[in-house]
Amino acid sequence: FLPQEIIRKKRDGGAMSAEEIQFFVRGITDGSVTEGQIAALAMAVFFNDMTMDERVAFTLAMRDSGQVLDWRSLNLPGPVVDKHSTGGVGDVVSLLLGPMIAACGGYVPMISGRGLGHTGGTLDKFDAIPGYCTVPDNELFRKVVQQVGVAIIGQTASLAPSDKRFYSIRDVTATVESVAMITGSILSKKLSAGLDALVMDVKAGSGAFMPTYDKSVELAESIVAVGNGAGMHTSALLTDMNESLAPYAGNALEVRGAMDYLSGRSRPARLHEVTMALCAEMLVLGKLADTEVAARAKLQAALDSGAAAERFSRMVAALGGPADLVEQPDRYLEKAPIVLPVPALKAGYAASTDCRGIGLAVVSLGGGRRRPSDAIDFAVGLTDLAGLGDKIEAGQPLALVHARSEAAAQQAIAEIQAAYQISDTAPAANPVVYRAIR
Ligand code: URA
Repeated sequence: FLPQEIIRKKRDGGAMSAEEIQFFVRGITDGSVTEGQIAALAMAVFFNDMTMDERVAFTLAMRDSGQVLDWRSLNLPGPVVDKHSTGGVGDVVSLLLGPMIAACGGYVPMISGRGLGHTGGTLDKFDAIPGYCTVPDNELFRKVVQQVGVAIIGQTASLAPSDKRFYSIRDVTATVESVAMITGSILSKKLSAGLDALVMDVKAGSGAFMPTYDKSVELAESIVAVGNGAGMHTSALLTDMNESLAPYAGNALEVRGAMDYLSGRSRPARLHEVTMALCAEMLVLGKLADTEVAARAKLQAALDSGAAAERFSRMVAALGGPADLVEQPDRYLEKAPIVLPVPALKAGYAASTDCRGIGLAVVSLGGGRRRPSDAIDFAVGLTDLAGLGDKIEAGQPLALVHARSEAAAQQAIAEIQAAYQISDTAPAANPVVYRAIR
């Protein structure tokens, strides 16, 4: 094969063979295909798309560009399962779901990412825990998954390395926004973790990665078809991201919130609904429950008995964090020195939020990155965020801002005020889970 012939074929609307795709992806990995050629193929795919067969071949080729984890030698007594989300604000689900699934008999080797733009990253949240090692060696990772049932760690360079090079070129050539390539990018990484089953949380709304509801549906359908086509049981839930999922956002604040949830101190309704729906889907997909009703009962028992909280504690300790983090969060998690309310500019109902703007307010406080090399301030963020439909008096707080400086707090206050639309009439109820795609 010649790379330019494969590019020409795609440019002219043809379908690439599995062998052509494998050749090209090998070239991405070993450097024999140039950056210009990769950019040209990405643009050709952007305009001419890929068939489902091409998407499966592309995803498998990217998976096979690096190490593929294999859990079979451990003879685990339960399925290896995971969840992935397209990213959101106040989305702390991974911290809850991993321990809950482990407490129900599943094994969750979760390889998570850093925050991207306005969305938070699970990896950054764990970095807020002193001592917690997000880059353990393979041996420790396997041991924690086997003994605790869940280990949440960071992306390693050895998994799907072709995606790293391909994505960095897509990023600078305006070719990220392709359902076919997003599908391959996400699934190659998840398939390399050696999963039996994956539940995808595809967000829709003003804080979602996909720009419209229909595009979110299209991505969910593509991921379900390609995941199953690649031999991994895959389903998706379409969930709402028109407001922060939890009433808080920011790294250490989300870790605190997650522990409050697991220990039963506080379970915000929307967060609980999405978490339970994703967990139940995963238990059914992993054959740990026959029905959604049975799955929910099992999950509730894991929360009520403290078993899920215990799994979280054990995971944190096994990966080097403090063993009593859940009991004594104040001893370990940083707190911002300045906490100020965001006064509502007028009375009425919280009718809509620019959820992206809420996420960007966390970034401007220092809780996210503008550039990949930026350092993160774990302590900062937002709490007590008003939910859509809440009735608010003028001057009452829409949220609390946790900031490093007075100036940063004032800027975030203005951003939050701008992100909330307040109207005289109550808005229609905002759904949490829109639909399942199986
Ligand atoms: N997230 C990914 O991992 N890949 C994409 O292409 C887009 C979002």
